[in-house]
Amino acid sequence: MWESSRVQFSIIGKFRNGRLIYRVPPRTPAYGYIAFGVIDRGTNVLQVRPTTICPQNCIFCSVDAGLSSRNRWAEFIADLEPIVRGVKEAVSIKGCYVEALIDTIGDVLTYPYLVELVKSLKGISGVKSVALETHGLLLSKRLVDRLHEAGLDRVNLSLETLNSNKAKLLYGTPAYSVEKVIEVCEYLVRETSIDLHVTPLWLPGINDEDVEQVLEWALRIGAGKKWPPVTVQKFIKHKYGRGRGLREVSWSDFWRFIEFLERKLGVRLKWSMEEWGMTYTRRVEGPIKLGDVVEIVVTSRGWLRGEYLGVYGDKCLVAISPGKLKVKIGGSYLARVKSVKDTLYIVELLREVK
Ligand code: SF4
Repeated sequence: MWESSRVQFSIIGKFRNGRLIYRVPPRTPAYGYIAFGVIDRGTNVLQVRPTTICPQNCIFCSVDAGLSSRNRWAEFIADLEPIVRGVKEAVSIKGCYVEALIDTIGDVLTYPYLVELVKSLKGISGVKSVALETHGLLLSKRLVDRLHEAGLDRVNLSLETLNSNKAKLLYGTPAYSVEKVIEVCEYLVRETSIDLHVTPLWLPGINDEDVEQVLEWALRIGAGKKWPPVTVQKFIKHKYGRGRGLREVSWSDFWRFIEFLERKLGVRLKWSMEEWGMTYTRRVEGPIKLGDVVEIVVTSRGWLRGEYLGVYGDKCLVAISPGKLKVKIGGSYLARVKSVKDTLYIVELLREVK
């Protein structure tokens, strides 16, 4: 019989500002937590999250990742096993082809087993495509070659400017070389079958013209071999994100800007789900419902300061809001489920189980 107490998260290091780095071991449930594992939102695109680490420090980061994070107190690097198991489980439930989209709350290129992950995902019968999202700081021709060999289908590149100094400012690190990212992406499009989708985030008043230049560059180099070549993302302020001082526009102003760009550049920026190959599917069923009282074991800190992470048996991960209780890592608690969204769960502790 499986025992949740056997799942032990070991601390493998410390990141900046005292953040603990945990290794997520094999046999950990794949579903339930936003920071790592697999997330199903009821479509044929599964979000796959193997790591939370990021080498950048973007001024607009919606998940407060990277070098100077203030709201995080833990980072996670997951073993391949839970991720691959979670995707296999979803494929068998959905009964259709899926895309595995590696879209972390950090930058996936930091994941030490990325090539193996892509290869393992591509090896699952029922996984039609594997894509990843990145800002590209760690891209290299060598890595592109290895990802190509492993079967990667697409890179979604978030690039906000082609200007070298501006990129260093926006990404909060002098290590970011926009010239290198451009060179490697051009290589990727030219020399491999991997597709490139370029998706700048529009920061009103900061990169209006840069967005145009990024889109023109992407089209010029041949992004969009099989999927839409370009889209633009809207900047939205998030509770735990950075960029509180940046300007956020309304959705109507955003769409006006998109239509202006479409007319000016003669490019399409709006794409339907069908054009992305996306469909609604059966969902991975959750093992817990809102209001349930369950016994959980605390495995570690959670990613956000003050939050913990736990497991409900071998069934799912849960984010733990401790309330007034003092939390012991490894302790068992009764907890009430206070939020269920897609395959993500938040519980509130009621009392310790001795
Ligand atoms: S926006 Fe992406 S690349 Fe930038 S700090 Fe956040 S997670 Fe890292």
